[in-house]
Amino acid sequence: MIDFELSPDIAATRAQVHMLAEHAMRPIAREYDEREHETPWDFINMTWQISKSAGIGPGAAKDGKAQKTPADEERSLRLVVAVEELSWGDAGLYLSMPGPGLGGAAVMAVGTPEQKERFLSRFKGDKPVWSAMAITEACAGSDSAAIQATAVRDGDHWVLNGTKIFCTSGLMAGDPKMSNGFVVVWATIDRSAGRAGIKSFIVDAGTPGMTIAKCEDKLGIRASDTATLIFEDCRIPLDNILGSPEVPKTSEGFKGVMATFDATRPIVAASAIGIGRAALELVREELKKQGIEIRYGISPRKLAAIERDFMDMEAQLEAARLLTWRAAWMMDHGLKNNLEASMAKAKAGLVVTQVTQKAVEMLGPLGYSRELLLEKWMRDAKINDIFEGTQQINMLIIARRILGYSSKELS
Ligand SMILES: Cc1cc2nc3c(=O)[nH]c(=O)nc-3n(C[C@H](O)[C@H](O)[C@H](O)COP(=O)(O)OP(=O)(O)OC[C@H]3O[C@@H](n4cnc5c(N)ncnc54)[C@H](O)[C@@H]3O)c2cc1C
Repeated sequence: MIDFELSPDIAATRAQVHMLAEHAMRPIAREYDEREHETPWDFINMTWQISKSAGIGPGAAKDGKAQKTPADEERSLRLVVAVEELSWGDAGLYLSMPGPGLGGAAVMAVGTPEQKERFLSRFKGDKPVWSAMAITEACAGSDSAAIQATAVRDGDHWVLNGTKIFCTSGLMAGDPKMSNGFVVVWATIDRSAGRAGIKSFIVDAGTPGMTIAKCEDKLGIRASDTATLIFEDCRIPLDNILGSPEVPKTSEGFKGVMATFDATRPIVAASAIGIGRAALELVREELKKQGIEIRYGISPRKLAAIERDFMDMEAQLEAARLLTWRAAWMMDHGLKNNLEASMAKAKAGLVVTQVTQKAVEMLGPLGYSRELLLEKWMRDAKINDIFEGTQQINMLIIARRILGYSSKELS
């Protein structure tokens, strides 16, 4: 049976997170947009305690030892529902929140049970902890096979060299003054093997040889840090490699590291949907103040253009949400969701940029003004069309999967 209703448990989570978003995020959203590079510690400390005790949000860590509970069966779905609410509150603050995040997703996707326990248990402490994921380099973004960073084995260690750019939470995860976090770094152990030689490595905060070179000034999500990390003869223990150190004959090994994205793309999609929903709700309220109500259930011929536009935006957002929930649901049921995760991400990233731009247009000068958060949401929206695989790259993945082409055959 197909059931689109959220379980009472997830609906309760949604209500709790919504309260947090409304009362703790919205009121400081503008402030931290304007004070880029300042860490919202009060908000972070408060949400860390809440999310740990309630078992919700990015701070609710799982490690390899934890027993599976009935709630775990819906873990991904619960997460995307919560992330939509948090991003409805504020996407920049949501991305600044501590928790296993992208790095944790990589450990979950590729790590051994021992590694899950070792690296994820730190998220259960009293102090907030971040993780980050460093893939992108100056010459390797969409084409992650072009990664130049290297990991060379030296006795009981791997030695990392290279420069990673645009790393979300790189500062909070990599600087020991900020947290006892870690950065998952993609590097090649055999450049001649191409994609098959790329592996992910855990670098603990404060490891000598890892330097945080700078934090970006950005268009949107300005409450979240985006760092450049330099690795110079950075030595990490041998068992900090995630997965096997073997270089397979084919690019199968690369699929292992790419599996991280099957978990993270629906989360990015959910964040996009939260921003889009915030924009739509605001437009509805402002139109109402001007005496314009969206009339449902009447003939489309009788609708005003603005009502049709609004309904179309709503429908697009709902389509993106259903794709996102499906990708998360598949993950919870142990089904391969590579295609569906890309579909959700591609659709939601596109829809949120369109919806927020149109929302600004609909409200005219008020939409453009800083009096409302709408112009900020338009700025915050765009990143969802860029990170975790751009719009174009996710469309390429979808085409490959549907048509049965390899990345060599369709690039
Ligand atoms: C705020 C922010 C946070 C980020 N956080 C992280 C992070 O935490 N970790 C991390 O590793 N990276 C992160 N990134 C980097 C992000 O993932 C990359 O910017 C993204 O993958 C695109 O790569 P690129 O910048 O090299 O662009 P390019 O790959 O150079 O792409 C430029 C344009 O060309 C298009 N394009 C490229 N190849 C193709 C193709 N084959 N077919 C059609 N079109 C194509 C792209 O879609 C894009 O529109 C972040 C970026 C930003 C801006």
